[in-house]
Amino acid sequence: MSDIIKILPGDVSNKIAAGEVVQRPSSVLKELIENSIDADSSRIQIIIKDAGKNLIQVIDNGKGMSRNDMRLSFIKHATSKINRIEDIFSISSMGFRGEALAAIASVSMVEMESINNNKNGHFIEINGGEVISEKDSNIQEGTSIKIKNIFFNVPARRNFLKSDFVELRHILDVFHRLAISYPEIEFSFINNEEEIFYLKEEPLNKRIISIFGEKIRQNLIPINESTQIANISGYVLKPEFSKKSRNNQFIFVNNRFIKSQFISHSISASYDGLLKDGYYPGYFLFIEIDPTKIDVNVHPNKTEIKFDDDQNLYSIINSSVKHCLGIYQVSPLLDFDKDPSMEISYDQVKSQPTIPSIEINSEFNPFQAFNEDKSDKVTNDFLATNNKLNLEDENNQALKIFQILNKFIVSTNKSSLIIINQNLAHQRILYESFLKSIFENSVNSQKLVFPIEISLTKKQVLLYSKINDEFKSIGFDISVKSELMLIESIPFGIEKNNVAEVIESILNEDFNTSNDYSTSDFFAKRLSKVTSIKSGQKLNSDEQEYIVNHLFSCKEPNLSPDNKQIFITLNKNDIENKFNG
Ligand code: ADP
Ligand code: MG
Repeated sequence: MSDIIKILPGDVSNKIAAGEVVQRPSSVLKELIENSIDADSSRIQIIIKDAGKNLIQVIDNGKGMSRNDMRLSFIKHATSKINRIEDIFSISSMGFRGEALAAIASVSMVEMESINNNKNGHFIEINGGEVISEKDSNIQEGTSIKIKNIFFNVPARRNFLKSDFVELRHILDVFHRLAISYPEIEFSFINNEEEIFYLKEEPLNKRIISIFGEKIRQNLIPINESTQIANISGYVLKPEFSKKSRNNQFIFVNNRFIKSQFISHSISASYDGLLKDGYYPGYFLFIEIDPTKIDVNVHPNKTEIKFDDDQNLYSIINSSVKHCLGIYQVSPLLDFDKDPSMEISYDQVKSQPTIPSIEINSEFNPFQAFNEDKSDKVTNDFLATNNKLNLEDENNQALKIFQILNKFIVSTNKSSLIIINQNLAHQRILYESFLKSIFENSVNSQKLVFPIEISLTKKQVLLYSKINDEFKSIGFDISVKSELMLIESIPFGIEKNNVAEVIESILNEDFNTSNDYSTSDFFAKRLSKVTSIKSGQKLNSDEQEYIVNHLFSCKEPNLSPDNKQIFITLNKNDIENKFNG
């Protein structure tokens, strides 16, 4: 048999590498900004068109490149940043693999201009990795690089790009992370010809305010702790500023944004008792640590990291955050949401124990024939002494439906026991009713007597502009002026005090107008999720009944809008098996 192994041609292997480095427009932006930072720029301008799908341009005032270096920079493993293998273990520079530009150039159209040492500027144009043209340029300083038509030669990947809403969100995330970790660099960000951010050189706290808005100012608590293992600095946010999303969580290790479950966990644990259920703390935490004590190369995106001494780091972070929260005298919130079922009221203490309803409902009993008379007698005796109860109502619902653990509703049908997850059931009910009114074009708006005002971040304003039509189609009447959102009408069925959360939750979602699912479906899902009865909520018997009756008149009572099982049933066999098993 002849030999079958061949070395891949360079352009093919670059395209494969591109899959790792270039996942979407935001990953290109990240590499380009990092290169500008590595080139010691003090001013970086970012220009984006169509969520980066058609143009990502980064202009810097850094040290630039020679004509030769410009050509070399697009060759794989071409880097000015590593000479020796040991260099890989230090992360003082942002990029260190020398493959970003090669990978990016192999899947897009690139134009680069650069000048260094005040010599002549040079221009180079590359399509899919091939140099197309070169000429002199009159660029005055630094480097300007344009990435046009990303994935133009890999249609499968181009088609895989998400809606502008999603891609822009990723771009803004990348921009926020870098702008926060380099407040000493001036940034401007232009989207479709509009300048969204102009951030002058400023201290970290000002930078955070410039990005997230004035509201955050009085919520910033400084943190500063030096230990032998690591130095911790930055800001944590007061518990009052916690959110239902993790959007305000930023961890930087040696000034590089990372994701780390154990660090997040150690910070969240410091907030124990200070946050309401379902809320997440916000923070901008900078950890400085000896680069030889970490491994950043565990993930191709370099957002994950391994620490040699994670146990100690965990407790250092935990106690530093606790300490600074303590200094600012943040005391635990009064626990308004305490589970009321855990407390026994005075009335209950005094009252005689009653017969559990499960015994007096004959349908619960697998040995119905044998036990029926007896249990009925018990029931009647019981009812006779409680003449306030309605004796006429033989099928007394209150006896058939009850709630356990403030989470499940237990009911029966002819032959089995049904345990329903109240939250998922209610989501299904609302979801179908929202969908119905959208499809029947019978969306009912309610005009608010007092319009609701919500202040948004710039990022939220930009994202909202991508889906404002969708909001209108489901019955919202919204206008946005600078960073203030004014809501004058809301869809029928939404509580006024849920509105801010509904809107935030939609803007936080990776919502894809083009290919994931239909707009109406997405909105119906979000609305039902936010407005549904939650686990942990005590329901009165009317509410329990409402859930059971409406669930079983749904088209698909079995599954929640996110395809989770809503209820389980136990029939006679299941129960008997439990006893015999
Ligand atoms: P890496 O950053 O890992 O070295 P890249 O492919 O991102 O690899 O870049 C290759 C080289 O091109 C860099 O090492 C650097 O010398 C040069 N370079 C890229 N962008 C810039 C820039 N904006 N300014 C100056 N030099 C740059
Ligand atoms: Mg790089």
